[in-house]
Amino acid sequence: MQGHVLSRHAGWPVIIGAGLAGLMAALEMDGPCVLLAPSFTGEGTSSTLAQGGMAAAVGPGDSPASHAEDTLKAGAGLCDPAIVQRITEAGPGAVETLLRLGVPLARDGKGQLSLHLEAAHSHERIVFAGGDRSGQVILQHVLQQARKKDTIHWLQATLEGFHAPDGTMQGVWTSAGFIPTRHCILASGGCGGLYQHTTSPLSNRGTTLALTAWAGATLRDMEFTQFHPTALVAPGQTGRLSLISEAVRGAGAVLRLDDGHRFTEELAPRDVVSRAIAAQLREGRTVFLDGRSLPGAPFSARFPGITQACRKAGLDPDTQILPVQPAMHYHMGGLKVDQTGRTTLKGLWACGEVACTGLHGANRLASNSLLEALVCGQWAGRDVNTSRNDGTAPPPATVPARPTFTTDWPFRAEMQQHLGILRTRTGLENFLERTLPLARQNLCALTASFIGWAALNRPEQRGAHWREDTPGLQPPRHIDMQLTDLPL
Ligand SMILES: Cc1cc2nc3c(=O)[nH]c(=O)nc-3n(C[C@H](O)[C@H](O)[C@H](O)COP(=O)(O)OP(=O)(O)OC[C@H]3O[C@@H](n4cnc5c(N)ncnc54)[C@H](O)[C@@H]3O)c2cc1C
Repeated sequence: MQGHVLSRHAGWPVIIGAGLAGLMAALEMDGPCVLLAPSFTGEGTSSTLAQGGMAAAVGPGDSPASHAEDTLKAGAGLCDPAIVQRITEAGPGAVETLLRLGVPLARDGKGQLSLHLEAAHSHERIVFAGGDRSGQVILQHVLQQARKKDTIHWLQATLEGFHAPDGTMQGVWTSAGFIPTRHCILASGGCGGLYQHTTSPLSNRGTTLALTAWAGATLRDMEFTQFHPTALVAPGQTGRLSLISEAVRGAGAVLRLDDGHRFTEELAPRDVVSRAIAAQLREGRTVFLDGRSLPGAPFSARFPGITQACRKAGLDPDTQILPVQPAMHYHMGGLKVDQTGRTTLKGLWACGEVACTGLHGANRLASNSLLEALVCGQWAGRDVNTSRNDGTAPPPATVPARPTFTTDWPFRAEMQQHLGILRTRTGLENFLERTLPLARQNLCALTASFIGWAALNRPEQRGAHWREDTPGLQPPRHIDMQLTDLPL
């Protein structure tokens, strides 16, 4: 079906996604714009699920340079130092922005901002709100501010494709109709829903990345997927797993095997802890997080949201140890963008988790993604402002023919097994044998194939990507890919 033109919105910039990145971009827009998402309540966003908070060098003795150093170290040689510097320097300003938007960031008895410590940060530098409900509190306040802006036109719909003949944006197909536009900001989040075990919304399956590839955009470092070490294991659970934030280990909780022994350094980088747990699980052991004797306040007082999730699973974190396992949590790879969020496709910007800015490299430092979503959302919005009035004629208001795709995805378990924490050439080849033949029709299969193909072409152990069959490191390089690079 061709659908119709949403002529009321013709020529306006279209922002896709109503998580933190999309909302920040919308707040920056000078003129009318369309904000497109399936829901405007926070549902289906990772932003609202964030527990720990946002990293920014605002504590005593801390500095953006130190924040940048920790970020570069975690990124294992693949960060872009210029963007790392730019984003970490923007951290204190981002905290100011949250306060200006009315976000009640936690404070200590003296009225100073309270700061968490998280893994691989050399200082306490995570601002937070609502105990462990940082994302929910932040998003609700940002949503509230965005609702006051009458130039934002809220369109409850789903993106179905980009019309970009000759590499130039001319419009987007949505479930509500076709919008002719020369400016589009993609802020559609990650792809955790492709995996069997994930902390992300299951609806985030990276289908928008596949649509950008069909439009001709370049994807970068798709193989870098971060697994959070401690998702709560709930018997019989098939949906999204509840996260037990790193802040819990930062507060003193320890990891134990079924015999009570500790087996790893709890505040080592995520990939190290995840691999240590994965190795134990492979041996048939069970791994627990023990937060029964945190210094200061008890678990339930410090982490009310996590306590609620534990109690739902029949566990009391104040008195019981919690079974945990790693789960897909964050996609470092994504749409290749420059410093202002421009992709390789003219007229398409990207920000937040869907973009690969160069901040995270091969491994994201904890709590850097809310910071990236906030500042890069703002930067993309401002850059669209500068180019929307460049005198270019609006695109034609007719509906072009649209290719159709499927999005069913029966390979979550295979994805976990072969594109999970520990990878091998044989596993990757087996996986690709099944997904590549489907990738022309199925958007999930296409995104999964990009991840698999990049993982196959990176025979090393770098950051979150761990090839068991090819130990050690190769010289650092990015893997950029377009649709034509896959053997479809
Ligand atoms: C459980 C959990 C805890 C986390 N904790 C932290 C933390 O403490 N600190 C931190 O820095 N980071 C944390 N992260 C990561 C961080 O939350 C995300 O990386 C960040 O919020 C991403 O923001 P975003 O705006 O890019 O995407 P999202 O918030 O995921 O929003 C994506 C939006 O795009 C929409 N969308 C998707 N596909 C389509 C489509 N086809 N058409 C239209 N709309 C679409 C979605 O519905 C949604 O509105 C956590 C992640 C998870 C899952």
